[in-house]
Amino acid sequence: MVFPAQSRLLPYLALFGLTFALTLGGILARPIESLSLFWPVNAVLAGVLLRYPRQAGVAGFSLVWLAMVAADLACGSDWVPALWFNLCNLSVVVTVWLLLTRLPRLHRRMRTPYGVLSVFGACAAGATVAASLACVMAAPWFEQSLRATWLAWFSEQFSTSILVLPVLLTAPSARALLRNTQAIRLAPLLVLLGSLALSIVFGGPGAIAFPIAALLWCAWTYSPFLVSLLTLTAGSTLIVAVAQNLMHFSLPQSEPGVTTLMSARLGIAMLVLGPLVVACVSQANRSLLARLAHQATIDHLTGVLTRSAFTRRANALLESRQQHAQALPLTLMMLDIDHFKSINDRHGHAVGDQVLRQFARTLQDQLHEGELLARMGGEEFVVILPGLAPDRAKFTAERLRRAVQDLHVVHGDARLQITVSIGLDGCAADTDSPSLDALMARADEALYRAKAHGRNRVEQALAQRQRV
Ligand code: GH3
Ligand code: MG
Ligand code: MG
Repeated sequence: MVFPAQSRLLPYLALFGLTFALTLGGILARPIESLSLFWPVNAVLAGVLLRYPRQAGVAGFSLVWLAMVAADLACGSDWVPALWFNLCNLSVVVTVWLLLTRLPRLHRRMRTPYGVLSVFGACAAGATVAASLACVMAAPWFEQSLRATWLAWFSEQFSTSILVLPVLLTAPSARALLRNTQAIRLAPLLVLLGSLALSIVFGGPGAIAFPIAALLWCAWTYSPFLVSLLTLTAGSTLIVAVAQNLMHFSLPQSEPGVTTLMSARLGIAMLVLGPLVVACVSQANRSLLARLAHQATIDHLTGVLTRSAFTRRANALLESRQQHAQALPLTLMMLDIDHFKSINDRHGHAVGDQVLRQFARTLQDQLHEGELLARMGGEEFVVILPGLAPDRAKFTAERLRRAVQDLHVVHGDARLQITVSIGLDGCAADTDSPSLDALMARADEALYRAKAHGRNRVEQALAQRQRV
């Protein structure tokens, strides 16, 4: 059965409606001179079907064709050209879809240079098929030579597709768009607008390349989606400017049929390739750097700070404390799960990991904003409590110890219980900041005593007790 069951008919109706509306819009926009230069319907539909591929199949493509023909007939076209020309249009949609749909998502969404080049190739292939079909089938309707017909179709479909398709392929979901509240840097955008204006004012064949520098700046500043929107804007502005002879140039007409506009269209299609590749490479770099920064800051197992991130933040805390005239007190705790090795030995490493995760979550739930928790390694953790002297921090440490004691980690039928030993050290208000190393060494010494005195207990550093 080619058409799907009734319950799944709605998306097909939506596809028919979208195609009909786009085609009708395209036909009605033709009298507006600048819009008559573009036929973006095919690229938009290829992009929609690549993003929502469920309706892409014999039924979907047939509906697209029928909707295109119906819109053409509604505008007064004859049957035969309506069927034939829209078959050319459909061939762009099908060719681009077939070539890109099998690509892994990363390439298909233009996140890699290979993906950008593939989209470029697919647009060229789609335009080639459509131009060839147009020559075979539509010769009687054109007064131009076959060569001119082919070039007109190819240059228009190729340039329009490479300007329009990336917008659809790189478009973020509505949720991701709303989540991104980053302010946009305006300078590259303004320079792009300025260089487009310069292209038109200065004119001549070289003026087509004037916006390249600004587009490259946009490409390493903005997201690939925004860059696609900008290449679409810049490319279509240049095409309109050439068509209106605003840029005052034409090729020597030695080769009949190769018009200035066709040549400019192909040049503009090539021009946008560079910025699109740069946009995808710099986006990949940005994500990689963000991932590396996250890995260096957050412990992958427990989600608390890593040792190196903790060291950086704790040193900054101690330094800023030192610079204040009235220094606040501060406490550092070292925590070590008791007999953790036996949990691994009895229940396996995976259960040990689960215990570590729940242990960290329990501590985090007990802490307040501004208090730092980090995993030093294995089953050893560290906490810094700014604003709390060791004598008061002892009560916080007791609260943490009891919370861990009350924690039950469910594993199969068993409920595992753990305990923690805690050593702490710190400094009172209005004293000099000790070094982080010294604080940790004394808290470690206290932890050692907590272990030696039977575990599941809190000990304060001796040196600290003598100082306060
Ligand atoms: P103590 O009460 O003296 O602290 O005894 P303990 O068994 O907790 O101490 P020990 O240092 O002998 O054992 C720590 C164990 O922690 C050994 C190691 O296999 C385990 N471990 C370290 N990192 C991880 C991890 O990421 N996941 C799991 N599951 N186990 C880990
Ligand atoms: Mg240990
Ligand atoms: Mg231990």
